[in-house]
Amino acid sequence: MEPLINLDPGKCIRCYACVRSCPVKAIRLQIAGGYPEVNNDRCIGCGECVLVCHPGAIQYRSSIDDAKALFASGEKIAAILSPSISSEFDDISDHRKFVTMIKALGVSYVNEESFAVDLMAYRYLSLLNDFKGRYYITSIDPIVVNYVEKYHPNLVGNLAPLISPMLAMAKVVRTVYGKDVKVIYIGPEIASKNEALRIEGDAKVDVVLTFKELRQLFADYNIDESNLEFSDFDSPLSYKGSLYPLRNGFAQAADMDENLLSASMVIVEGKKNMVDAVREFDEKIKTIQRHFCITFGNGLEGPGTTKRGNRWYKEHQVIKYANKRLQNFFRVEWYDDLQRFLELDLSRSFVINDQRLPVPTADKIKKILADLGKSEEDALGCLECGYESCRDFAIDIANGLTIPELCISYAMKNTQAYEQSIHDLNEKLAQTRKSLKESEQKTIVEKETAVQASELTNAMLEKLRSGVVIVDHVLKIVKANATFTSILGDEAEQINEVIPGLVGADLNRLLPANVITLFSYVLTENETIENRDIRIGDNLINVSIFPIVKGKVAGGIIRDMRAPEVQRAEVIFRITDVIDRNLEMVQKIGFLLGEGATDIERMLNSIIEFYKGEIKKK
Ligand code: SF4
Ligand code: SF4
Repeated sequence: MEPLINLDPGKCIRCYACVRSCPVKAIRLQIAGGYPEVNNDRCIGCGECVLVCHPGAIQYRSSIDDAKALFASGEKIAAILSPSISSEFDDISDHRKFVTMIKALGVSYVNEESFAVDLMAYRYLSLLNDFKGRYYITSIDPIVVNYVEKYHPNLVGNLAPLISPMLAMAKVVRTVYGKDVKVIYIGPEIASKNEALRIEGDAKVDVVLTFKELRQLFADYNIDESNLEFSDFDSPLSYKGSLYPLRNGFAQAADMDENLLSASMVIVEGKKNMVDAVREFDEKIKTIQRHFCITFGNGLEGPGTTKRGNRWYKEHQVIKYANKRLQNFFRVEWYDDLQRFLELDLSRSFVINDQRLPVPTADKIKKILADLGKSEEDALGCLECGYESCRDFAIDIANGLTIPELCISYAMKNTQAYEQSIHDLNEKLAQTRKSLKESEQKTIVEKETAVQASELTNAMLEKLRSGVVIVDHVLKIVKANATFTSILGDEAEQINEVIPGLVGADLNRLLPANVITLFSYVLTENETIENRDIRIGDNLINVSIFPIVKGKVAGGIIRDMRAPEVQRAEVIFRITDVIDRNLEMVQKIGFLLGEGATDIERMLNSIIEFYKGEIKKK
């Protein structure tokens, strides 16, 4: 069987109104921002969550298909209607039309639950009059029965051992129409759906429909009062039981003593009142010394109704309907029915289903309160979380039923901290962006400078009359100038046309082995080789090789000794070198030979000057 309460996360907007509204914390929240979860074992079927969930994410178990199957089965069916039909179906002109509409669904008998209200009220009167020292809590409302069984199991023995009016009426109709008749109950509460599942035998109710579901069936079967005639409820008919939806309707039904000075029964109605009343009964019944007639709702605005609000208008509708019904009331007939059915076995028993959770240690509660920013002294709280106090809230946090984020002040504090951290993060982000932009601009400038420097170097390299080549550690050319290419000859010139600057060309294929050996030596030993004259065929080149990056990059300057300017420069260089190296000797000779030696020096200098002049001319 599908659970009574179902939550569709697809429709849930995570407002947590359901978590706050549940009087027994049967809806828990485990993760901040997550979806609530319904624990149907803890649920008492009050339907508060259904009423507060505006997106309709929480729905109760539908009985429409069961009802349709029953209508189609051909079985004899008796419908039992809650007396609050008058407040729900105020859009139907006459209750007699309403009875015909129900019959049009395929129902044979239409009965009022109010007769069973009369019956049970008198049964209660007997129980209370036969007082033997035990005070009772009425068991007319299945929500209250569930609450006691689950949350005050020690009071199960104080639940009046009598069936509810719905079950009593099922027993009555089976007594009248036979045991085989199927029973459908139509009312405002959804707890009745689960109550029906608990009872077998004559009091069994086969299908429980809410008013909302009944409207759906009227629509599905296209049933409208406009083309239907009047018909009346089937007997037995009720008396004051039709006032049941009103706060003291049950007491009125049996003319119970409602005098505040002498009444033996306290009448309680409503969610908070139910919780408080059962607790006080538990704690102080020895002093209070009265029976408690407790109902959770009033039957006018249960989760199975379609109209909310206007309570006093609804009460007016109930009273108006009751008065109208009583215009044709036959008291003798009613009294005979009452006496007859009071003989039925209307008793029942209850089952302890303890859903209480352990109370956490005082230290744990204290710590949770401290985490929430509350001390035990100021823990009365704002009630916004739906709890009576911060302490109750802390207990449920400890039991895993809720989370601290449901506390508004805690959530706000966290939000502020979160906003501050976002603010700090944004500032850091802005600072990083600024630094990045500056660094980007710096890089652009550096890149431009590098490009300019590279262009300048390239231009200078191209202007040099010596060949220049730069190679990597495997002797691939990184850079070479035009003079280098021209020194190497035609083959190198052709390669240069395909690979400008010979970039990536293998030096091994361009220079003889003895030169390659020199490059390898420089790369390996990280030493410079200067001015090596090397003959290549008929040609003579002068080579200087130097390391640029140890073991990785080396550069070479190669001069073609056949070039006239090189020859002249070299002659000048070498003569100058001869002069320099022999100057001392010349001076010594001059010193020894006098003017004759000076003439030799003058002659040599004139040769140098001649070559310098020739170079300038070029
Ligand atoms: S009340 Fe409805 S929408 Fe809000 S959290 Fe609960 S299930 Fe979701
Ligand atoms: S029906 Fe009532 S008890 Fe059950 S989950 Fe909803 S609010 Fe809680």
